[in-house]
Amino acid sequence: MSIRPIKRLIKAKPTLEGAGVHLRRAFGFGNTSDFDPFLLLDDFRNDIPGDYLAGFPWHPHRGIETITYVLAGTVEHGDSMGNRGAIGAGDIQWMTAGRGIIHQEMPKGDPLGQMHGFQLWANLPSSLKMTAPRYQEVKAPEIPEVIDDDGTRARVVCGTFWGKKGPVDGIAADPTYLDVTVPPNKRKKLPVETTRHAFAYVFAGSGKFCNASGPLSVPTEGLGWADTAPLKEADNRSLVLFDSGDDIEVQAGEDGIRFLLVSGKPLQEPVAWYGPIVMNTQEELQQAFQELQKGTFLKPT
Ligand code: MN
Repeated sequence: MSIRPIKRLIKAKPTLEGAGVHLRRAFGFGNTSDFDPFLLLDDFRNDIPGDYLAGFPWHPHRGIETITYVLAGTVEHGDSMGNRGAIGAGDIQWMTAGRGIIHQEMPKGDPLGQMHGFQLWANLPSSLKMTAPRYQEVKAPEIPEVIDDDGTRARVVCGTFWGKKGPVDGIAADPTYLDVTVPPNKRKKLPVETTRHAFAYVFAGSGKFCNASGPLSVPTEGLGWADTAPLKEADNRSLVLFDSGDDIEVQAGEDGIRFLLVSGKPLQEPVAWYGPIVMNTQEELQQAFQELQKGTFLKPT
């Protein structure tokens, strides 16, 4: 058993996307190997309607899956296949773009003007980049929550955790996507399969993620892990990228801590990425944009 050391602790960066949406990007559009099979994580929590209502009008995707998790407000969406709907608070939409969709995503705030949520992009392996597009929509009550003896809670969106299986399946990257809450001042160890890349994204409270590899040391006076590995606090909008190991460990601060814990099997394939389209080669990327120009991007089902 080993605790995963922290490889990187960074803050999400203010980014302008879509038709002028102010969001924070935790990662994306850089070196993709550390996060493989994930490509991007956007935190679109915002309390100023003028900063998000312009939304993400019609745009294409190919070669990826997008996972939208809404915490407040709704995201209204529509696509080239005629699907229409709204993702509400607590809901998840898992979209497999495959060979191509054109869609729009329009955030609408709740009565308080709040629009909170996250969008994660997962890469598709070469064998599935041109698969048929599909959606999985999961309403809040269908997402199981497991509660441990010490009050730690995990909503299991995808994958299996503490014996509960999330409702989203058939995803190429075989991800585990959890929404974890650890109560104030509790220290918690959470298993993450060794072969996976893993990251945490903090969105409430604060805490310290353990940085020690090897067996867990007993927290005695002057000899606790906090003393042997002093760490920066991970608070709101902190992204923690983990190195390899069997578990992650977190010491919650006095307000507790809530974070997404996401892991997936690396695809280890070449990445050719421009905007909303992610392929393996430059040729495939060029072909996609030529098809968009010619109007042949969307393939019959
Ligand atoms: Mn999109």
